[in-house]
Amino acid sequence: MTKLKYKRVLLKLSGEALAGDQGFGIDPVTVNAISKEIVDSSGLGAEIALVIGGGNIFRGVSVSSKGMDRASADYMGMLATVMNALAVQDVLEKMGAETRVMTAISMHEVAEPYIRRRALRHLEKKRIVICAAGTGNPFFTTDTAAALRAMELKTDAILKATKVDGVYDKDPVNNPDAVMYSRLTYLDVLKKQLKVMDSAAISLCMDNNMPINVFNLFQAKSISGVISGQEIGTVVH
Ligand code: UDP
Repeated sequence: MTKLKYKRVLLKLSGEALAGDQGFGIDPVTVNAISKEIVDSSGLGAEIALVIGGGNIFRGVSVSSKGMDRASADYMGMLATVMNALAVQDVLEKMGAETRVMTAISMHEVAEPYIRRRALRHLEKKRIVICAAGTGNPFFTTDTAAALRAMELKTDAILKATKVDGVYDKDPVNNPDAVMYSRLTYLDVLKKQLKVMDSAAISLCMDNNMPINVFNLFQAKSISGVISGQEIGTVVH
């Protein structure tokens, strides 16, 4: 078996990643491609916990800016992450992986509640743990949930999957001269307000020395590459 750089990882998938080119909802072809990569990485022996966002379906902050109560909107956002989690679970299991969805808001008929010790046991048994409903609290994001779960589950790193190759000095989509960083400190990210994860998530990672590897999800074999130690994307440490 390949010697892995990261034996246990927390993979943060944004909701948008699941939407593919359509930009909204869940695109089965995209979810299939992502799931294949996750199953392959698990096959290398890595223990994988996923935190899934919900921005492809509902984002609390944008709806609350149009008048809805922020907490209610955020609960809707958290429920959106559960839909995404079930979609990914379905595909992963069809590919033969053993998975558990664990929710931060109890809904026993749908999934297990998130219990740290139980999640650790699932990981030890090489089950892919899909953490849904964020932190269970409004006013947070799934980036913060990813940082929190990474700490709780003692992962070796957070793998933050994005649509671009890493972290750039400016938006690479609109600026062809944008330069990608290969390494950054947490303070660089906070001071330069680089779009890696929100500041609450970065601070939590900084206080607990949790490395974040930002990489392009749509580059072939990116997750397995990062796990097995290839220098892919940007590492924040
Ligand atoms: N959310 C929340 N608390 C959390 C995590 C998420 O209230 O701990 C809500 C929030 O409204 C957010 C939505 O769920 O807008 C979807 O999560 P996020 O925006 O982080 O998803 P992503 O951008 O990763 O797709």
